[in-house]
Amino acid sequence: MIIVPEKDIADLMTREAAFAAVEQVFAAMASGDAYNFPVVREAIGHADALYGFKGGFDRLGGVLGLKAGGYWPHNLETHGIINHQSTVFLFDPDTGRVAAMVGGNLLTALRTAAASSVSIRHLAREDAEVLGMIGAGHQAAFQLRAALEHRSFGKVVGWNYHPEMLPNLEKVAAEAGVAFEAVDLPGMREADVIVTITSSFDATLMAEHVAPGTHVACMGTDTKGKQEVDPALLAAATVFADEIAQSVSIGEAQHAVSAGLISESDIAELGAVINGSHPGRRSDEEITLFDGTGVGLQDLAVAAAVVALARANDTAIEVEV
Ligand code: NAD
Repeated sequence: MIIVPEKDIADLMTREAAFAAVEQVFAAMASGDAYNFPVVREAIGHADALYGFKGGFDRLGGVLGLKAGGYWPHNLETHGIINHQSTVFLFDPDTGRVAAMVGGNLLTALRTAAASSVSIRHLAREDAEVLGMIGAGHQAAFQLRAALEHRSFGKVVGWNYHPEMLPNLEKVAAEAGVAFEAVDLPGMREADVIVTITSSFDATLMAEHVAPGTHVACMGTDTKGKQEVDPALLAAATVFADEIAQSVSIGEAQHAVSAGLISESDIAELGAVINGSHPGRRSDEEITLFDGTGVGLQDLAVAAAVVALARANDTAIEVEV
């Protein structure tokens, strides 16, 4: 098997490779060529940890495997390592033999940022100029860096529940040579694209904060009970998701569906837009909304891409098991 350690991922993986891998696997999901397995997530009763598995099979890409990991809230203070820990295991779909073990921490951020970027590429107006960011934590920096590459944004407007974190966004915008302005929530009406990436359990972005024609990528809500945006915004928007089953159970759509504002059949897969079986955005006035809940196949796709890059660079570590 091939091992790609966490410490090698930053040198090997690129945002372009992550984008291509996630776009391909979303398309494969929509065409029925790839599917995710049921997610396992357990409070293990040790170290206050949440541990689980996300797996799937992409028949087109020939990628089978799982991401194992979770959240250890005391890691940083006790062990000096980050609280989110994950590892991806890939298997040969022809034989079942283990094929690779890949560090999953940085890859998780890259694949999550790639998902919102794929939605921007396929759903945002071509003339989008102002990018809005809600959230300024660890993932937000990756989201912003990736999103800036998919339209000619001239300005970033940012809002965060903890305003003292906004310099995290300002720094990324400055690196990309784009102006940054901290705004209040109504200031988001200036944005043509808005990315939400917070751990909020209450709606902060309300329908009246979003102008007609905006594309909104909701990336923070990945658990039952979490919420970033007003359910009325989903009712007013054309809603897309990475996976509809996750969108209505653990994604942003859980709230609009349980309030009876939209139903499961109102949500389309982003992969269908990539495949051309859904027209995507239909007008410059339409609000499009992507509910990015995060699926195991994204993790497998970027892990397979990094294994290919390690082989091509001759840096792959090969062991017999
Ligand atoms: P982080 O802890 O680094 O940042 C948290 C962010 O949420 C900060 O901007 C913080 O100010 C904000 N926040 C905290 N409490 C809030 C509140 N009550 N109201 C509004 N905002 C609040 O976390 P992170 O690593 O950046 O992750 C952000 C979210 O993204 C988490 O919910 C995480 O589970 C989710 N996530 C989703 C995916 C996916 O695939 N969709 C992948 C990874 C992470």
